[in-house]
Order: sequence, then structure tokens, then C-alpha cells
Amino acid sequence: MRAVCLSCGAAKWGALTACRACGARPGTLEEQARAMLASEDELDDAGLEALAERVRSGGDVVFDAEAVESLVADLERVPVAPLGWTLLVVGGPFVALVLLGVLAIAVCAG
Ligand SMILES: [Zn+2]
Repeated sequence: MRAVCLSCGAAKWGALTACRACGARPGTLEEQARAMLASEDELDDAGLEALAERVRSGGDVVFDAEAVESLVADLERVPVAPLGWTLLVVGGPFVALVLLGVLAIAVCAG
């Protein structure tokens, strides 16, 4: 998902990723919510471009307070989902290796 860095206005891939231009990454839940509002989930091409332009020119970026609040509430409800996926991605190959090892031992022993 394309998004706009709210620190420097650069285009980036993924609302919650670190910006490749300035290294800024949304930290707090509110920052994450604002970052998500600055993505193509919420904005069309023209909206993204206008937002990027405003950030680059140093203008204030004001989001709808209710939208930010409801996103923060969403983020508070599902903090474990990204961690679960990380464990799956990191742990999957490890589990496969262990299973292969057990299988190899079983074959050798037999
Ligand atoms: Zn940036």
C-alpha cells in the first residue's frame, strides 16, 4: 500500500514502514493511525499528492480527530496480529527444519 511520510512528504510503501528518505517510522498508536490515514487506503492519487506537497512545504497536516481516534482504538484491539505473523514467518522454517531432523533420525534408526 502506498503512503506518504508525514515527516518529510516522501512517498513510501506501507503506512507503518520506516521512510527510506528520512528514516521516520510511526511510533505511537496515534502516529500509526495518522500514518494509516496518509495511505492509499484513505486517499486517492490526488489526495496522496496533495498531502505530500503540504508536508514538503511545511504546512500543518490535520486529520479528522474522530478518524484518528477510531483507528487508535482499532490498533489497541489488535496489537498481537503483526507479532503473530512475524512468529509464523520466522518460526515456520525453523519448525520445518526440526521436523526434517526428526525424520532423518527416524530413517537412520530404522
Ligand atoms: Zn520521510
